Amino acid sequence: MDKNNIVRFSRLIRESDNIVFFGGAGVSTESGMKDYRSKDGLYNTVKQYGVSPETILSRSFFYRHPDVFYDFYYRYFLDASAEPNRAHLALAELEKSGKLKAVVTQNIDGLHQRAGSRNVIELHGTVLSHHCPACGAAMPYEQVRALRGKIPKCDRCGHIVKPDVVLYEEPLNERVTEAAAGAISSADLLIVGGTSLAVYPAANFIHYFGGENIVLINRDETPLDGRATLVFRDNIGEVLSETVKNHNAADNF
Ligand SMILES: [Zn+2]
Repeated sequence: MDKNNIVRFSRLIRESDNIVFFGGAGVSTESGMKDYRSKDGLYNTVKQYGVSPETILSRSFFYRHPDVFYDFYYRYFLDASAEPNRAHLALAELEKSGKLKAVVTQNIDGLHQRAGSRNVIELHGTVLSHHCPACGAAMPYEQVRALRGKIPKCDRCGHIVKPDVVLYEEPLNERVTEAAAGAISSADLLIVGGTSLAVYPAANFIHYFGGENIVLINRDETPLDGRATLVFRDNIGEVLSETVKNHNAADNF
């Protein structure tokens, strides 16, 4: 990792007062969340279930095969061994300092909130809440998780309970997309991390940014590299924690 780039990144943070973070799967994988989009995730899913993860996570499949859906969902999303990592913690710290105004994420695991972030805009919803589509009753996260992959049935009416996540074939929530667009368009520094910006429509949100500086942290190349002020190809937890540390130290002088 280039120390000079950490110093430059920390300087950009000092000069900004409306920072927004836009993140993808790479933020979660460092916490040990299994990534169903990875080569292994894809291979294992097709081998075990005979269909792709995208098929299982579609609205029509959910209603046709809720047993398969919940088996997969439990395995990939309710595995509570994952803990917030240095990336989540550094972003929560930046928010507390007043610099960071919002985290916009494509992840549904709730790890940002567990790290202490408050304004988290979840484009694809969250596994932390579940509702009955028939009567609207909520089922607590712990209750769904305790079923260990069995189908949760509504306590009130018996209908299958659905996670508050956006499945394939479903539109993004309008209130959420407006909040994300609003946060990104008013930002003066946009940090993009752990995403190859390949998942649409989520990746389109970047285009709302009208500010000058974008900092990009991702293992692989992205379509936004040419537009970025700084590009890191390193571990996102390491980059963010080192930068926030550097920023705090500079603040004390
Ligand atoms: Zn119900």
